[in-house]
Order: sequence, then structure tokens, then C-alpha cells
Amino acid sequence: MVGITLGIESTAHTAAVGIISPDGTILADEKSIYTPEKGSGIHPREAGRHHAEALPKLITDALLSANLSSSDISLVSFARGPGLGPCLRTGATAARSFGHKLNIPIIGVNHCVAHLEIGLLEGATDPVLLYVSGANTQVIAYSNGRFRVFGETLDIGLGNGLDKFGREVGLEFPGGPKIEKLSEGPNLINLPYSVKGMDMSFSGLITSSLNKFKSGQKLENVCYSLQETAFAMSCEVAERALAHTGKNELVLGGGVACNSRLREMAETMAKERNATCFVPERSLCVDNGVMIAWLGSVMMAGDYQLSEIDNQVDQKFRTDMVEVSWR
Ligand code: AMP
Ligand code: MG
Repeated sequence: MVGITLGIESTAHTAAVGIISPDGTILADEKSIYTPEKGSGIHPREAGRHHAEALPKLITDALLSANLSSSDISLVSFARGPGLGPCLRTGATAARSFGHKLNIPIIGVNHCVAHLEIGLLEGATDPVLLYVSGANTQVIAYSNGRFRVFGETLDIGLGNGLDKFGREVGLEFPGGPKIEKLSEGPNLINLPYSVKGMDMSFSGLITSSLNKFKSGQKLENVCYSLQETAFAMSCEVAERALAHTGKNELVLGGGVACNSRLREMAETMAKERNATCFVPERSLCVDNGVMIAWLGSVMMAGDYQLSEIDNQVDQKFRTDMVEVSWR
């Protein structure tokens, strides 16, 4: 029987610690976000350093806010990947030192699968996940023993694309939320809409949006058109995944899923095909420790057999590499 689980997230810019009880009650959700210097992108080593400094306090704060002591924790879970090497190693080190000190099991889990499984806390049972974050854009669902990637970006993640556009037009990091605020319709500028089979491509869309801005189009109008185009592409692929798999639940995950327009579009699409759209609250859409704790807890409750590999980070730990023994 799995007791209370502490989860550590550190794959990219967010260092986070979450605590969850076996019935899914969230007991703590603490985060600290690394912000790159003005005008630059994320620097993996600097982000890793930020996480190394932040994690001990995040663990203390999480225990305090849950009103628990470390001896109440019976499992520690961390994100093995995918992510940036220095960031992943920092989280794994924190998990190992916490776990070894308490002599409790340590489990490394897949970050993308965690975004999907948190949807089950919202009431979904077997959803298609539209996962739109900084580095990742994937449409994922469970099928025949594995989580399969039904479609994904062929170049950059949508969030990184929005951040890049933001940086070039003078918005501070992260650009996504600022683009959302600026966005103003109803005039839709024609931008490249690249869905190729079940995959998407965003870099041409970002470049083209920048060119429209440089050639004198209003920023508000470019932001609006960029959002409409990118979100329609993502929803189209998610819809086709629902159709192919015959599933009728959609879950949104990743930082970009904080966007109200994307939420609205996904809800409309789901409704039109009699599916249910589950949208976790924003603190659970962004990278967080709760989903890492939850996935570790679900895996162990499902008799997952720990091995040497569960202790090692893997920068390229793809969604479909996870052997699913807990469903
Ligand atoms: P994550 O990698 O899941 O932590 O998400 C971070 C990404 O989400 C960044 O690229 C942000 O720009 C993006 N993001 C956060 N909030 C919003 C929003 N309201 N609209 C669009 N993108 C957002
Ligand atoms: Mg993420």
C-alpha cells in the first residue's frame, strides 16, 4: 500500500515539489521558476543551478504547507525525463538524497505521461492528451500497453515558439501570456497553417508572424492571428486522435494550456463531437511536482516493479518508451 508521495519536478525552467495522498488529495504544490536573462533563452546549466538552490527550500516549504514531517512520506518520485541534462540531474540528486535519508523507495517517472495522468485526478478515465508546453507539443493517448504519440511538432514546441516571437517583438519571458493579453481580433491575418498528417510544424508560423509585424501589421492583430492559427492546428490533430482512437475524453496539459482561447477552442471541439474536455486548473497545467508525485503513486499502487533504471535520468525519455504496468 502506497502512502503519501512527494514528487520533484525539474525538467526545464520550473523546480517544483508536490505532495499527494494515495486518494489524490493534493497536500502541497510549491514552485520556483528560473527566468533567463532579458533577451536570451533558457540556459540549461544556469537553470540547473537555480534548481539546486531552490529545491531544498521547496521541499521544506512543501512539508510545512502540508503540515507533515519528512517521516510521513513513504515514496519519493522525480521526473527522469525528457528534459535538460543539468536540470534533470539536480532533481534526481534531490530525490535520491531525500529517499536515501528516509530509506524509502525512489521512482523516476516520465514527465509527459505525468501531464496525462493528472487528467485522471480531474475525472478522466482514458483520455487523449493535448500537451502543449514550452519544449513539447504532443498528442498522446494510451493504446495497447503504451502511451502512444499520435501527433507531435516536427520542429519547436509551441510555447518556445510563442516565447521566441515575444522576445523578438520586445515582450519579456515568458511571451505566451503576454501574447494572450495583447491578442485582439477579429481580423485574421493569413499565416502558414502546417499540419502534416498528424504532425505539426510551428517554426514557419513564428517566422511569418514576425515578418508580418516587421512589415507594419499591428502587434495585437498578429498576436491574435498567431494564436488562432497555432491553436486551430493543435486542436485539429487532437480531434483526429479522438476520432482514430474512438476515445471521448480530452485533457489539456502544459503551460500553453493556461491560455483561455485554447481552452475555449478545445472545449468547443470536444462538445461538437460529444466528448468531454477536462482542463486542469492552471497550477496543474504548468510543470508541477503534484503530477510527478501522482504518477509515482499510481505506478507503485499498480505494482510497478522498480529496477536500476528508475533511478537514472534520460534526456530523451520519450512518452512511448514507458512500459505501462499500472493500467
Ligand atoms: P511549461 O513548459 O509546461 O512549464 O509551460 C511554459 C510555456 O507555457 C511557456 O512557453 C509559456 O510562454 C507558455 N504559457 C504560459 N501561459 C500561457 C498562456 N496564457 N498562453 C500561452 N502560452 C502560455
Ligand atoms: Mg511540461
